[in-house]
Amino acid sequence: MAGEIADVIVVGAGNAAFCAALSAQERGARVLMLEAAPQEESGGNSRFTAGSMRVVYNGVDDIRTLAPDLTPAEIVGTDFGTYTAEQFFDDMARLTRYRADPDLVQLLVCESFSTLNWMRQNGVRLRNTVGKVQKARLREMLSAK
Ligand SMILES: Cc1cc2nc3c(=O)[nH]c(=O)nc-3n(C[C@H](O)[C@H](O)[C@H](O)COP(=O)(O)OP(=O)(O)OC[C@H]3O[C@@H](n4cnc5c(N)ncnc54)[C@H](O)[C@@H]3O)c2cc1C
Repeated sequence: MAGEIADVIVVGAGNAAFCAALSAQERGARVLMLEAAPQEESGGNSRFTAGSMRVVYNGVDDIRTLAPDLTPAEIVGTDFGTYTAEQFFDDMARLTRYRADPDLVQLLVCESFSTLNWMRQNGVRLRNTVGKVQKARLREMLSAK
């Protein structure tokens, strides 16, 4: 019966599930997604991060590739810096207290940019948060004084 409405069933509708669904759809499959959470709480943990995700980038050109909606004012007014693979590895080690699987961390870090780019090419709209994070930090610093 399921085969009549879908070739692939993806359980969950968080980021990983959406990528699995996109990947299956890209290969021509009809995909059915089943999510346990009510629609107003859907999105998995990405809902709690406001969609933030780590990605290796080497400056504004990489950010522009992922978020082509950036305005000239945002580009001029934001110090995008970089987030290197080395920083990402360090953060994964620190945040997981060295308990993460090294092979999976390698995959996560080294494929992060190409994966987000692939998501964008498949219709996921990505927005820059780098400047917003910096503004939030600035506000924190100012209010702490
Ligand atoms: C507060 C917070 C801050 C974070 N900050 C960052 C960050 O800055 N950068 C970053 O890269 N990552 C961050 N993360 C981590 C990141 O959000 C998660 O790693 C990522 O969202 C996990 O996605 P997922 O699809 O693997 O799992 P989930 O998002 O957990 O998705 C699983 C989905 O499956 C559904 N589900 C579970 N069981 C069933 C079932 N039996 N039937 C149907 N549906 C089911 C769940 O309801 C859920 O929607 C943060 C996480 C949190 C909580």
